[in-house]
Parts: sequence; C-alpha cells; structure tokens
Amino acid sequence: MFGFGNAFSRVLRRASAGVKDASRLNPATRKPLPALRTVARADHCISRKNISPGALRVLYRLHESGYAAYLVGGAVRDLLLGGHPKDFDIATDATPEQVRHLFRNCRLIGRRFRLAHVVFGREIVEVATFRGHDGEGEREVHDGGRILRDNVWGTIEEDALRRDFRVNALYYDISDFSVRDYVGGLEDLATRQLHLIGDPSQRYREDPVRMLRAARLSAKLDFSIAPDTAEPIAALAPLLGDVSPARLFDESIKLFMSGHGLSSFRQLERYGLLPWLLPSLGKALERDEAGALRRMLEHALAGTDERVRQDKPVTPAFTFAVLLWSSVQWEVQRLLASGADAMDAWHRAGPSAVATQAQRMAIPRRFGVAMEEIWALQPRFMVRSSRGRVHRLLAHPRFRAAFDFLLLRAVQEPALQEVADWWTVAQGQSAEELAALVAKAPSPAEAGGSDARALAPARRRRRGGRRKRKPGGAGG
Ligand code: ATP
Ligand code: MG
Repeated sequence: MFGFGNAFSRVLRRASAGVKDASRLNPATRKPLPALRTVARADHCISRKNISPGALRVLYRLHESGYAAYLVGGAVRDLLLGGHPKDFDIATDATPEQVRHLFRNCRLIGRRFRLAHVVFGREIVEVATFRGHDGEGEREVHDGGRILRDNVWGTIEEDALRRDFRVNALYYDISDFSVRDYVGGLEDLATRQLHLIGDPSQRYREDPVRMLRAARLSAKLDFSIAPDTAEPIAALAPLLGDVSPARLFDESIKLFMSGHGLSSFRQLERYGLLPWLLPSLGKALERDEAGALRRMLEHALAGTDERVRQDKPVTPAFTFAVLLWSSVQWEVQRLLASGADAMDAWHRAGPSAVATQAQRMAIPRRFGVAMEEIWALQPRFMVRSSRGRVHRLLAHPRFRAAFDFLLLRAVQEPALQEVADWWTVAQGQSAEELAALVAKAPSPAEAGGSDARALAPARRRRRGGRRKRKPGGAGG
C-alpha cells in the first residue's frame, strides 16, 4: 500500500495493517495531513511486558478514572523498533491538577511546560496534558517565533502536531492496545527517516534545540534526516546561541553520554552544529589538519559508548575534559607566549577553558572541578625522576581518570606513548621495583610531548627554593 511492504512489515505485523480515516489539514500550515492510521493490537509488536510497571499503573489509573491515556514519544517509537526504552512518557486529557488528584506520589513541575511527575521508587513517569493551538491555558511566544511557554491544552490530534518528529508522535492507547499515527510516523519508522512535523524552519525557530535532537536521534536510531528537515539547519544553527546554557548542557549529556556519542559527534559536525555547542572545539578541528585531535576525540567517544554498552559507569567530567582539551592546550600556549611561567599557565588554563565554555553551556561545578583536576595532573606525568612525586601522583584520588586521559592523549601525540607505558608499568610495582624504575627514569625535558617543553621553565624556577604547593597543582 505504501510501496515499501518489506520495510513496513518489520515495524508492523502486517504491511496492510491499520485503519485510515479521511484527509485533514494541519491548522498551522494549512497543508493536508496524512490520514489517521490506527493499528490494532494484533498488528503491531508492542507488548505490555516491555512497558515499565510504573507507566502501566499510571495508564490504567487514568483510564479507569475516565481519562484518555496514551504512551507516547520515544517509548512508542523505540518499542516499535524492538528496543527497550529507558523512560516512558504518557499523554492524557486530564489537566496536571487532575493528574495530581489521582496519585499521591505526584508532583507538578515546569513553568515552560507544566507536567506531572508520578514517582515509583526510582522510576519517574512523566504525564503531560495534550497541548493545543489556541484552547484553554497560556502560551508565550518570543519575537523570533521562539515558544517560551506552552500551557495551552488541546486534543490528541493537536498534541501530535506540536511534537517534533513524526516518529515521536505515535500513541499507544491503553484502552484497546492499538497504536495511533496522526502524522505519518509509521512510514518514517519503516523508511528510517526523521521528518519534522510542519514547516521545518518554523519548528526550529520555535525551539532551536530541535536541531540538536535531529542530530541526536538520527545518531541514536541510525536514521537519516529527511532533506527538507536537514536543509534549514545550516542557516538556523546560530539560533542555538539563544538557548539557555542549562538546557544545552542537558542536551549534550544526551548527545555524548547515552551510548551513541561518536555518531552524535559526527552528525553534529556534518550539520554544522558543533561550533554552536562547543565553539573552541569547532575552531580547533578547523586547525587540525593532520587529524590528530579528531583521532583522539573519536577514540574517546567510542570508548565511552563501549562503557555504556557494557553498563560500566561513565562521567561527564571525563568526556567534557576531552571535548575541551584543545581549548586548554590553546590557553596554555597563549599564557606561555605572554610570559607566564609553566606552572601558572597550567593552573590558569583549565578554569579559563571552563569559564569560556560556560557562556554556552552550564557545566555543573562538580564536573568543572573534576575536569580541571584531570588537566592539571597532565604535566605531572612528565616528572618521573622524583620518588616522592611519583608516589604522590599514584596516590592522587583523580589518578585513574588522569591516567586514562594520558592514554588518550597518546593517541593524539604519539610521543607520549613512552610516558603512558612507563606509568602503566609503575602502577603495578612494589616499592623497590618502583624505586628502581624512578632511578632510571628520563627527565621531563628528555621525554616527548608538548608538556615537556612547557615544563622546562618551571623546573628552572624551582631550584631557587621550595614553592608552596597548590592543591591538584601541575608541578606537584
Ligand atoms: P529519548 O530516546 O532520548 O528519550 P525522546 O524522543 O523520548 O528520545 P524526550 O526528550 O524523552 O525524547 O521527549 C519525549 C517526547 O516529547 C518526544 O518523543 C517528542 O514527542 C516530545 N518532544 C521532546 N522534545 C521536544 C521538542 N523540543 N519539541 C517538540 N516535541 C518535543
Ligand atoms: Mg524519552
């Protein structure tokens, strides 16, 4: 019926499944919409076994109380693709206040988008009231078309139209276990494409984060971005400059820390979004003619993806230390060139890189502190001929992260491999073996890598007498 029977039957049980109704217009664009398609329980693959117990309880309670109750968004999309969603969003015609009256474990959140959160232990189920065009409630729109606040309640169909991508506007109805598609999301799932609903430029202007979501979801799902949805991004990417730094941080966490960081990075670059998220990295990649920085980044992001896949812990501090590393290096060189001594340059470069990035992205302080420590420990790896310093570094609480970071840097600067190997050996040694290793160790100036050069003035200076040590200091 759609001309892609095989692809379609991977999503639906039967390619012909679904009941369609007559054609309608999108009230925002006045363009015809695809007919509503309803797929019965027997014809799709969503099973209640794969829906979290908390989400099911909310769905049933709403339904028993006479409200409409649907699973919606990424969860329906991922279930139809055979995946395991990590969160379950629910849409209903009950207002947030009505939802709160139904659940004791419920709190209302959000100003821009008022929502109910129903809490079951560690699980939070998000319940949103259908949003409409011009019904009851309040909406605030900025001059440039940006939607600042959207608490206008509407019908399920209007709710579908204000969602971002067609694949994100599928509804699973708890009353009869059918799936409803108001916008053509099932076709996109079958052809593995992302289409924005409505006029793409207008939708990006309403909320520029949708450009990042296009990059992220195409990476996560391995979908292409449809040409009309991709086309406006290059021109509209600067609108990301108006998005709040807190939201950009949250979105970056989803981009880089959810197991598809490498492909997200590639999509961000491909669509010209990277310089608006990480300006210093964007510039450094332009200068990276030999591709060494790119190799390091890709290696790091692939490593994080692999850890996520294996369910090992990952910290944004490490990933952001990698993403901002070129900024730190650049800052160190700038400070050295302006006459700062090496110790000082290393101490100031980290906080300065974090502060510059903070204009774009609100990196929480606890991660910023950890990143600065990882960076500040880097030159200390060059000093191997002092037993005291080697012991202190090995015992440093941030040693592991800093050492992993050194291993990555060796991907960018092969001259550092010898240093990395030395520390790999040093970690497993007894006190005597370590003493012998230290006795034979080269001086910083004899080792390779950019830090060796940067450290030389600091050593000269220290001969004059002991300097006070700063915490986490670069000279140790
Ligand atoms: P993920 O797999 O990362 O959770 P998701 O699509 O579920 O992806 P959420 O941020 O959980 O993403 O959003 C849930 C749903 O809310 C989306 O599927 C979409 O329908 C809607 N939505 C989210 N962000 C926007 C937005 N910026 N504009 C319009 N609709 C949005
Ligand atoms: Mg989701």
